[in-house]
Amino acid sequence: MKNDRTPYFRPRKRFSLHNTPPAMKIFAVVALSLLAVVYTVGNLTSTDGQLFSSLFGNYNDELGVSEATETIEIEEGEPEPVNQILTKKVKRGESLYVILTSHGLSPADIAVISKELKGKFSVRSLRPGQQYQIEKTPDGRFLSFSLQESRARKLHMQKDEDSGSFQVWQEVLDYDVQLATLSGTINSTLALELQKNSRYSLITELQNLFAWKINFNRDIQPGTAYRVLFEEKWIGDEYITTGKILAAEINLEGQNYTAYRFTDSRGTTAYYDENGNSLSGFFLSQPCNYTRISSGYGYRIHPILRRRQFHSGVDYAAPTGTPVYAVADGKVVFRGRKGAAGKMVTVAHANGYHTKYLHLSRYATKAPYGSRVKQGDVIGYVGSTGRSTGPHLHFTIVRHGKLKNPLKELKAAGTRKRVSKAEMQNFMAQISVFRSQLDETGVMVADVTKYSEKNTTALN
Ligand SMILES: [Zn+2]
Repeated sequence: MKNDRTPYFRPRKRFSLHNTPPAMKIFAVVALSLLAVVYTVGNLTSTDGQLFSSLFGNYNDELGVSEATETIEIEEGEPEPVNQILTKKVKRGESLYVILTSHGLSPADIAVISKELKGKFSVRSLRPGQQYQIEKTPDGRFLSFSLQESRARKLHMQKDEDSGSFQVWQEVLDYDVQLATLSGTINSTLALELQKNSRYSLITELQNLFAWKINFNRDIQPGTAYRVLFEEKWIGDEYITTGKILAAEINLEGQNYTAYRFTDSRGTTAYYDENGNSLSGFFLSQPCNYTRISSGYGYRIHPILRRRQFHSGVDYAAPTGTPVYAVADGKVVFRGRKGAAGKMVTVAHANGYHTKYLHLSRYATKAPYGSRVKQGDVIGYVGSTGRSTGPHLHFTIVRHGKLKNPLKELKAAGTRKRVSKAEMQNFMAQISVFRSQLDETGVMVADVTKYSEKNTTALN
C-alpha cells in the first residue's frame, strides 16, 4: 500500500531586501504599502460595501440599493439539475432498513427515521411487491422515499438537506369526504378553541380567509361567535384530516364577517363575503407572522452611523424557522444565495410585480426554482443569512423594475374581484345552501362531542 502520509517539506526561497540597492528598497516599500491600501479597500467593498460606503458617504442596503429611484434588476436563476427518481418493488425478505441503507442512508439516519416512524408506520407491515420510489440528487445523495402502502395510503420520508433531519408523513389517497360544522363562542383564542375541538388544522385556513379583515391575534376576543362548515376526510370510520372550508361566519363585536366558497362558470374558485366581494386581495397582508417591524421602507437615519440611508424593503422580525409565504400567485424566478441578501427567493407575479424574500434560513422543498406557487404557499423560512444582525425577513416589492413601499402595496390590496352580475343568482343560491347546512343540527360527523365544553356548542 502506498503511504500518502510522507512528510512533504521543501525549503522555500525567501525574498530578501538585504543585498538590493537603497533606491530599490524605498521603491519596494512604497509599492508594497500602496498594494496594501488597494487590497484593504478592495476587501471592504467586496465583503458588503457597508464600511467602504460609510467612509465615502454612499450606503448600500442588503439588496445593494442606495437610492429610492434606483432601477432593480431582477436576476434570473438557473434551472436546477434534475433529480434521479427510481421506482422499485419490495423484494421477498427485504426490510425497510435494508432498502434505505442500500440507497446511501447511514445507521444514524436510520435511528432518526425509526423514531419519526413511531405511530405512523410499522416496519413489519412492509410486504413483498409493494411499490416504492427513491429520489436522489443528480450526484446521488438521498432525498426522499415514498412507499405505496395500500390503495389508500402512501408513506413519505423526506430528508432536509440543510439540517439532516427527516420528515415522515402519510398521504391519504382514497378517502370519503363528509361535511362537518363547528360552532360556538370563543373562550380564549380561536386557535385554542379549534384545538379543543380537535380541528386545529382549520386555523391556518381560517386565518388566510380573513387575513384582510381580521387580525386573529389582536381582534378575536373571548365571546366572539363563530360557525364553520368544512369537509373532513375519512377512511371507513377513521378520521384523517380536515379538508376545504366551505363557509365561515365570525361575529366580532356585532360585526359579521363571512366567507363563502364559490366556483364560477369559468371554474375559478374563490371566497366571497355575503355581498359577493372577494375576500382575498392581489397580495396577502403580510409575508410571515412577525413579532414587530424592525425597519421600515425608505430613507432613515442609521442609528450608529448617523447617516441618511435608503432601505429597499421592510424588515419583519420573527423567530428563525417561521414560515414565509408567497404574497401572491406567481413563479419562483430566483432561489439561491446572493451576498449580503443571504438566502433569497424572488417570485414573479402578474401585473409587473416581483417580490423578494431575504435572509432565509432555508427554502421550502415544495417551491424549487421555476415552480409555480399559489398565494399563501410556503416558499422558505425566516433566518439570518447574509448581512443581518438577527433573524428577520427583509421583504421587497418591485414593480416594473422600480422599488415600491411594501406596506403601502400590501395595504392597497390590489384590485378586489367581485362575483359577476350574471353569476350572482348562482352565488346567492350557494350561500343559502351553506347557511341551511350551518343551521342544521346533525350534520356533524366528527366526534367533537367529547371535546365540547361549556360555551362551546359543537353541532353534532
Ligand atoms: Zn432589510
